Amino acid sequence: MLYDVVIAGAGPVGLFLSCELAQAGCSVLVLEQAESADSPLKRLPFGLRGLNAPTLEALDRRGLLDAVAATQVLKPDKGPPPPGTAHWLAQPRPLGGHFAGIPFALDDVDRTRWTWRLPTPVGTQMAVELQALEAVLAQRAIALGVCIERGRAVQAVRAGATEVVVETAAGVVRGRWLVGCDGGRSTVRKQCGFSFAGTDPEFTGHSLLVELEDPGVLTPGRQYTAQGMCNFNPPGVLALADFDGGAGHRKPLDLAEAQSLLRRVSARDATITALHLHSTWTDGARQSSAYRNGHVLLAGDAAHVHSPLGGQGLNLGIGDAMNLGWKLARVVRGEADEALLDSYHLERHPIGATVLDWSRAQVVLMRPGAGSRALAAVMADLADTRDGGTYLAERVWGVSQQLDLGGGHPLVGRSVPDFLLADGRRMGEVLRTGQGVLLMLDENCALRDVVDRWQQHFTSVTSAVDHALGLGALLVRPDGIVAWACDAGGDEAGLGLALQRWFALPKAD
Ligand SMILES: Cc1cc2nc3c(=O)[nH]c(=O)nc-3n(C[C@H](O)[C@H](O)[C@H](O)COP(=O)(O)OP(=O)(O)OC[C@H]3O[C@@H](n4cnc5c(N)ncnc54)[C@H](O)[C@@H]3O)c2cc1C
Repeated sequence: MLYDVVIAGAGPVGLFLSCELAQAGCSVLVLEQAESADSPLKRLPFGLRGLNAPTLEALDRRGLLDAVAATQVLKPDKGPPPPGTAHWLAQPRPLGGHFAGIPFALDDVDRTRWTWRLPTPVGTQMAVELQALEAVLAQRAIALGVCIERGRAVQAVRAGATEVVVETAAGVVRGRWLVGCDGGRSTVRKQCGFSFAGTDPEFTGHSLLVELEDPGVLTPGRQYTAQGMCNFNPPGVLALADFDGGAGHRKPLDLAEAQSLLRRVSARDATITALHLHSTWTDGARQSSAYRNGHVLLAGDAAHVHSPLGGQGLNLGIGDAMNLGWKLARVVRGEADEALLDSYHLERHPIGATVLDWSRAQVVLMRPGAGSRALAAVMADLADTRDGGTYLAERVWGVSQQLDLGGGHPLVGRSVPDFLLADGRRMGEVLRTGQGVLLMLDENCALRDVVDRWQQHFTSVTSAVDHALGLGALLVRPDGIVAWACDAGGDEAGLGLALQRWFALPKAD
């Protein structure tokens, strides 16, 4: 069988992308190397993942948010955080997040500065277990007809001009398109000639689940030492940053080695009596210089890796999938030229580069040495101000992300505000069909002709809203990004170009 799209990797990004494609009518095969979706590293304490505003919006816009929210592990009505979850979450003052462990307070965040963001039940942050998130996505993918084959790794790829042959131990599969969502060590990326440039690691991060003879020897929370950083979450969860240039990455540890590592990094005489779980990561930061090579594309960690500091990687990957899915589906269905896919790289590569720099900046504050500690103290002072808290929230929550779509109205390239429409629906709900939306907020805008001519391509909504932000009309892409907008009383100038660009329709002149 020739699939429309073969996806390598059933991680969160591959699964989300498979849903996008299947909802749009594509045949999709997902190949996953792991036999089982179950892994202790995807569950608490190490499997905790922070989701930001764009990810929550993406889940809401596909009707998945309630199912994901039901799996939440850290929320007030579930009582205090479970033992071993991040220490900063257990602080008495409500916290908005952190930068290199430097917290900012929720009540310092001034949301009124985000002009284009309306109050919404969707929220800006949520903590879930990776395994629970994947389960929700896999269930949805299967319901949409996606075929997921576990225990079947991509071994080699032969990419032609119009289709891609994927080799696995159990035989070959063929797809018109292949998307590598196979994580940081992506086989697809290596096989298909993508370069992966960036910066080498300064440290090895160790996540350890241990039993300690005397946990009181260690101070809970982050402590900086001459060798790196020790983050202790009682009773036995440790995150260690060992500034060894990444030499310890992927090297298994026995109990004696874990013991010596802990003493060296923490500079405390702690004794480990049992080692239950260990995994490593680094602050190496690399990004593929292209996200597409012919009929092969990359998304998620396959396209970019960086340290988990600040919890951005999964969010970045879901953003890739949301951006790519509708475009690839239009190309597969023959409704758009392949050139539409070039916008995927153009829009997502700069966002990825910004996240890589965000993680690099945090490493500077973690380096051993008096200079880093002095800089961190300055940063903590700034984080403790209204301007600082608002700035950090904006970056960490991703609330002001804007794609460069080449100018126009200041709303173009931003996530559409979650308008409450006259029929009682929110904008996020209107987008659940996976179609673009032409939203008319001001009946004085002369767009009726356009709607009549092109409405089969959109969900078209004429609706009064309480808070229209002075807008007249908007064209919203299936991913919820505003492609065109005019103010109240405005006209359709530029709308024809936007229609042509994103929906490959003739100019509506
Ligand atoms: C300790 C830690 C904490 C983190 N915290 C956060 C956080 O709070 N927020 C956040 O946004 N991000 C966080 N991240 C990052 C986040 O987990 C990753 O960015 C995210 O999982 C990437 O998703 P993915 O689907 O691209 O790749 P992966 O999750 O790596 O999934 C790739 C999948 O591909 C499969 N695969 C690999 N090779 C092959 C092959 N050859 N053939 C077929 N399948 C293959 C793998 O088995 C895997 O299932 C954290 C990471 C770590 C390590």
